[in-house]
Amino acid sequence: MIKKFLKRVFRKSAKTKTVGNAQVIPFDVHGVARTGLSYGANKVCDGLQVAGFEAYVVGGAVRDLLLAKTPKDFDVATDATPEEVRRVFRRSRIIGRRFRLVHVMFGEEVVEVSTFRRMIEAEDAQTDAHGRLLRDNEFGDQEQDAARRDFTANGLFYHPATQEIFDYHGGYADTQNGVLRMIGDPLVRYREDPVRMLRAVRLSAKLGIQIEPATAAPIHKMKALLDNVPEARLLDEVLKMLLSGHSVACIQALRKMNLHQGLLPMLDAIFAHASGEKFIMLALRNTDERLSQDKSVSPAFLFAALLWPEVANTWQRHVKAGERPQGAMYEAMDEVLQRQKKRMAIPHRHDAVMKEIWLLQQRFEQRGGLRPLRLLEHPRFRAGYDFLLLRCASGEVDADLGLWWDEFQDASEAQRAEMLQPEKSPEKKRRRRKPRSKPAAGAGGATE
Ligand code: ATP
Ligand code: MG
Repeated sequence: MIKKFLKRVFRKSAKTKTVGNAQVIPFDVHGVARTGLSYGANKVCDGLQVAGFEAYVVGGAVRDLLLAKTPKDFDVATDATPEEVRRVFRRSRIIGRRFRLVHVMFGEEVVEVSTFRRMIEAEDAQTDAHGRLLRDNEFGDQEQDAARRDFTANGLFYHPATQEIFDYHGGYADTQNGVLRMIGDPLVRYREDPVRMLRAVRLSAKLGIQIEPATAAPIHKMKALLDNVPEARLLDEVLKMLLSGHSVACIQALRKMNLHQGLLPMLDAIFAHASGEKFIMLALRNTDERLSQDKSVSPAFLFAALLWPEVANTWQRHVKAGERPQGAMYEAMDEVLQRQKKRMAIPHRHDAVMKEIWLLQQRFEQRGGLRPLRLLEHPRFRAGYDFLLLRCASGEVDADLGLWWDEFQDASEAQRAEMLQPEKSPEKKRRRRKPRSKPAAGAGGATE
């Protein structure tokens, strides 16, 4: 308490100074020590400075540290060209075609180093018919580099040696006030890159800060510009939202701003059905929780969940039309994936895993013979089981089924034999439509 008070008094007495157009905020005011940076970020900045260049930690990491969050990764901005950076660090490589960056490797850590660049002046800018910027790859200085960034909080430069922050757009005050504000005229900046609208939603949800009114206001009328953004980039941003650890907050914010329609066509279709919405929100909540516990989350699992209500509906329709359940599932999966791909390019590489997860769902219903034992051996069992639990939690299937599998996994051989249901005879198998019966205690061993 006293410590906090003293810190506040002390900070107030510390002075910010002005260098050119930058406010320079000293450590005593902002309180972010260089020890809060990653090993690699410190090494890169020190290495470049020793070689005679300027180097600063920039962007999301500075913002996150000021907001007492743990940065995902560290980016460095410098006046050295990519070739010059490459020469300073042996373990580095130049990446990117449009704008070349350098990745410097330190064990598992990769620090992304970019050369200061400037926004291209209006008359030289290459834009599409809607004003979207197609090129922004001219080298520039620090001030120009700050101006081309999206939000004031993302435009701060941290100097590890002096622990000072260079601020050209009032980003430090904005972080302190919990405000996400666009640098420059929001209308122009959204036109240049409509994805910034989604970034505003994601960052405010993730950081728990408010989008400043003038930054929020144009989103409503400019959202149609998102139609012109290449699908791969849109998918990238949507994935960032879903995997941000705050996906529920992001989706709620998107809905509030009416941005979810057309953006995630899968959500459009699904939010039309209350049961689908419940399942998806549960899947997202579950994803957020896993991320907060540092557990892995696979995009394929997430896509499988987002599309499940549509797959399940289509599947039911085919079954009602008289198709066998398994054949109907194959049809439903292909139909939904095809429909989906036309609207939003989920990469093909996820198809196989999504299909496996969906197909496993039927197999969880089969608790007779040796089938459950074989299912336990399936390489995708864990994902399929996690998916089943979501279906149980949403009320789509009986909670008993999830409990049975929970028990079965940890049971001894003898217990498992007891839990297995008697194998049905071939005639009965064909008419398997009646509701599942509960596992009978002492039903006898496996008979297959
Ligand atoms: P996080 O990494 O937490 O998702 P971030 O702000 O670091 O958030 P990145 O995509 O890593 O996001 O971008 C790094 C920095 O590059 C940003 O902080 C911002 O300064 C700049 N930037 C990223 N995307 C844009 C954009 N569309 N327009 C302008 N500047 C951008
Ligand atoms: Mg980042």
